[in-house]
Amino acid sequence: GGADIQPLQVDESVSFDDIGGLSGYIDALKEMVFFPLLYPDFFASYHITPPRGVLLCGPPGTGKTLIARALACAASKAGQKVSFYMRKGADVLSKWVGEAERQLKMLFEEAQRNQPSIIFFDEIDGLAPVRSSKQEQIHNSIVSTLLALMDGLDSRGQVVLIGATNRIDAIDGALRRPGRFDREFTFPLPGFDARAEILDIHTRKWKRPPLKELKLELAASCVGYCGADLKALCTEAAIRAFREKYPQVYTSDDKFLIDVESVEVDKKHFMEAMS
Ligand code: ATP
Repeated sequence: GGADIQPLQVDESVSFDDIGGLSGYIDALKEMVFFPLLYPDFFASYHITPPRGVLLCGPPGTGKTLIARALACAASKAGQKVSFYMRKGADVLSKWVGEAERQLKMLFEEAQRNQPSIIFFDEIDGLAPVRSSKQEQIHNSIVSTLLALMDGLDSRGQVVLIGATNRIDAIDGALRRPGRFDREFTFPLPGFDARAEILDIHTRKWKRPPLKELKLELAASCVGYCGADLKALCTEAAIRAFREKYPQVYTSDDKFLIDVESVEVDKKHFMEAMS
């Protein structure tokens, strides 16, 4: 129905400061997605054609969704409302032949009506075929619909698509041709500095944030952790500190008076959470 094509209400606002270790990506995406929406006159007068679509590739939990949400939030903070539509690739597929195509058309119409708009397709590889001939036909029809809709967008770039995927190879080649998703960013797993930054982001609002040395030590131990893993580590450590300080909350259903400041998340809690 019409109800599910409303712009996503980004309830929790995300700023670029909440994203660790990706400043180069943020600047590039500002140039390609954000500035064209905000300053269309500049781009028009210098004949800079912004991309209609960009692809964010990389392992899960590396900040692809986070960056897309931050772009939309930044715009509204700048006083320019940007409509943000978020879809999962697989959700676009539907049981009914033709329904997915209809939904896509409605989504594009809505995004154009409410432009400037960002359409974010998470797991866009979900539009890829499951290899049976019936499935393949359905897939082809959805991909052609998406291509036609993208080709129909005007070149002033007031509707931009961002696709995210963990599997770049699973994306139909036609979607990656010029004028479609023709810019790609491959998000890496965070390195040491990025891990330290991300740990800081997820603990800096704590009443008693960990000391810098501890954060560096943790960053050194967390090789291979993605941003989402680091966030989960902070959460788990905090819960462990809480449990240690207030064991009674686990054994009784009474509500206790908690002194937030008395809970200190220390090295031991992080180490336990890591194992
Ligand atoms: P998926 O492929 O699973 O959708 P994703 O790359 O879109 O992964 P996000 O949804 O952006 O991952 O990340 C999940 C959560 O992990 C974020 O909401 C954020 O809390 C944390 N996170 C991930 N990357 C970062 C980062 N670079 N800086 C800070 N937090 C991060």
